[in-house]
Amino acid sequence: MEHEIFKELETTLKGKMLYHVSLKRYTSLRVGGIADIMIYPATIKELQTIITFSHRHSVSYCIIGRGSNLLIKDGGIRGIVIKLSRCCSTIKIAETGRGQVKLTAGAGVSLRRLLLFAVKQNLSGLEFLSGIPGSLGGALAMNAGAHGTEIKDVTDIITLLTPQAEVIEQTPANLHFDYRHLALPRGTAILKAVLKMKRSTKNILLSRIKKINEWRRRVQPLNYPSAGSVFKNPSGQSAGQLVEQVGLKGYSVGNAQVSEKHANFIVNRGGATAQDILALMDIMQNKVYQVTGIRLQPEICIAGENG
Ligand code: FAD
Repeated sequence: MEHEIFKELETTLKGKMLYHVSLKRYTSLRVGGIADIMIYPATIKELQTIITFSHRHSVSYCIIGRGSNLLIKDGGIRGIVIKLSRCCSTIKIAETGRGQVKLTAGAGVSLRRLLLFAVKQNLSGLEFLSGIPGSLGGALAMNAGAHGTEIKDVTDIITLLTPQAEVIEQTPANLHFDYRHLALPRGTAILKAVLKMKRSTKNILLSRIKKINEWRRRVQPLNYPSAGSVFKNPSGQSAGQLVEQVGLKGYSVGNAQVSEKHANFIVNRGGATAQDILALMDIMQNKVYQVTGIRLQPEICIAGENG
């Protein structure tokens, strides 16, 4: 990619702009090729400038959060990768009344920081997010959930930046949330959300979080890089149990392995490539389909170009 056209953009931005960035460092799977450009806009206005610039110069862009549900292919990403951890990083109490409290948080805020803030303020509603890595923007884009609650259930309002660089507000009822998915026009950025919370006590919150964390440590392979569940659970079934049933628990392609602890996790045993992971996913899908007739659908997002 020509650097020259980006010089103009670089001079107008206060935010950080990096060239030729290895995306391995930005995904929890620790795989992925090179991004041409990575930008951390300092403000929403800068994000609007980047999007307008992209349209003007026909350069593609994508937004990533903390890369914890993302498989980036070995050929990397052409164009601009945008991270919102600088421009969308505040959390504040927006409104209180009759036992309910509303929090406003930026899309770039990590789920861990959000949960810590809620606990500090004795606010309940986000405990289900405990142990889920990622940012609020990524959680909304994926409709992240656990233990019967999804992020859409606690969301009041979402602020979006449309592909035309317009800021709009939407309620979840006006958006298409689905199981681990929010349908948005391509190029839309989630900027922030208002979350509905209830007053609670620190003891109650901490004991819920402790139980969830113990459960995660017991059932998930947290000592290896992964992207969480690779496939969505088919209706009434567990994707992990199906993969285990067809005998693929522990099966490897290169250094990518179906976790021995949880068969819906693929772990990077060190030096795995995206190609290894994609090949392993193919084997899991085909074998489960041959044996059970069920076609597993990826839960993780796959982006970028082949190596
Ligand atoms: P990313 O992985 O960076 O991005 C995911 C998608 O969201 C991409 O398509 C990206 O383009 C898009 N996106 C990100 N931010 C924005 C934005 N601001 N605007 C528009 N689009 C955006 N998930 C669950 O639901 N439940 C679980 O229990 C769970 N457990 C996990 C356990 C482990 C060990 C791991 C590694 C992952 C787990 N996950 C789980 C998956 C993952 O943590 C969540 O999906 C998380 O919400 C992803 O957030 P992220 O910021 O990392 O998003």
